[in-house]
Amino acid sequence: MGKVLIIGAGGVGTVVANKVAQNNDVFTDIMLASRTKSKCDAIAEDVKKRIGVAIKTAKVDADNVPELVALMNEFNPEIVINVALPYQDLTIMDACLERGVHYLDTANYEPKDEAKFEYKWQWAYHDRFKEAGLTAILGCGFDPGVTSIFTAYAAKHHFDEIHYLDIVDCNAGDHGKAFATNFNPEINIREVTQKGKYWENGEWVETEPHEIHKPLTYPGIGPKESYLIYHEELESLVKNFPTLKRARFWMTFGEEYLTHLRVIQNIGMARIDEVEYNGQKIVPIQFLKAVLPDPGDLGENYTGETSIGCRIRGIKDGKERTYYIYNNCSHEAAFKETGAQGVSYTTGVPATIGAMMFLQGIWKKPGVFNVEEFDPDPFMEQLNRQGLPWHELFDIDLEF
Ligand code: NDP
Repeated sequence: MGKVLIIGAGGVGTVVANKVAQNNDVFTDIMLASRTKSKCDAIAEDVKKRIGVAIKTAKVDADNVPELVALMNEFNPEIVINVALPYQDLTIMDACLERGVHYLDTANYEPKDEAKFEYKWQWAYHDRFKEAGLTAILGCGFDPGVTSIFTAYAAKHHFDEIHYLDIVDCNAGDHGKAFATNFNPEINIREVTQKGKYWENGEWVETEPHEIHKPLTYPGIGPKESYLIYHEELESLVKNFPTLKRARFWMTFGEEYLTHLRVIQNIGMARIDEVEYNGQKIVPIQFLKAVLPDPGDLGENYTGETSIGCRIRGIKDGKERTYYIYNNCSHEAAFKETGAQGVSYTTGVPATIGAMMFLQGIWKKPGVFNVEEFDPDPFMEQLNRQGLPWHELFDIDLEF
């Protein structure tokens, strides 16, 4: 039924490869391509052993449009699942337009030389995708992704109007390292060292990095200090749910993590501009990535779980109501099933479901869309089946 090209062979690519192979009634022909082909081969070999499904592999530089188009000509996919880095979003979208291939990703475009992510670059492709009759599904990981679908589900079934949204992301896992990031270190450090930002009464309010924080209680985990940061789904959610009076994003960080982060920044290792070193130009944060633990290798001894969800307040039948919807994901269970830890798992499973929704003709409309613009129901049903079950609490104290 469906030919899928996965681009990117990191932690998330590993999970997507496993999940599409598990669903080979939908994904009938699979190719995994990335910059380093040996990583694709190792994942394909592991999937073959685990699931008995063959995956083709290829080398591609996703910064290079002609190279991408050549690969698409050779394999002829219906959809690309882009789980390379946000820097490659636009080149992959260009190649999809040139070759007539549908598109899905999990993180919005970010220029390499500026730590600033926003949707404007990708939204600008809407008319071209629409005219070409192609669907582009943006931000289909967990956050962005499931958090936006949770919001759409709440708005559809439980509220007449949603007014206050707090997305809460807790990683209560322990990987046993003094400092490591759970996904690509360069992207992760750029994200969490930015200024905070939230939406209130029709405008963005900026804060110093990690200025606002409070303990929040996560189901099955307990209280964890949670920090207000800016996160990309806020941009599309306030546009698509204009009744929102306030929208914020909270993430837990341990003291040890924040101390390391502060030192990394203070000594200049988070810099994204080039510096001269031994007659060579290097970007400090890229060098740092090379010496930090590979997020893909954290899985083996990772214990504990993640808990990510949406806490919403709004109006139903004239009365105020509160609602909390969340998923908890065990790092150990994720590793056992796919060989990758929980953060990669919670991203790769939704990306697979999004592509499944497209191939089944359920999420298919020409243009560029964020996930909350599609029907949440069939996706929510698949979350329960594909390893990310969700839970709902009604009329509780949201702690805000
Ligand atoms: P990794 O760094 O582990 O993997 C990235 C992969 O992309 C690597 O295989 C890398 O190749 C490949 N790649 C990088 N540049 C190129 C290029 N020019 N051409 C081809 N391949 C390239 O990252 P993760 O797997 O942790 O994350 C993947 C994506 O998922 C990121 O965009 C991240 O932002 C996103 N994400 C989204 C989340 C969500 O909830 N929405 C949460 C977590 C991550 P090589 O091995 O050669 O370096």
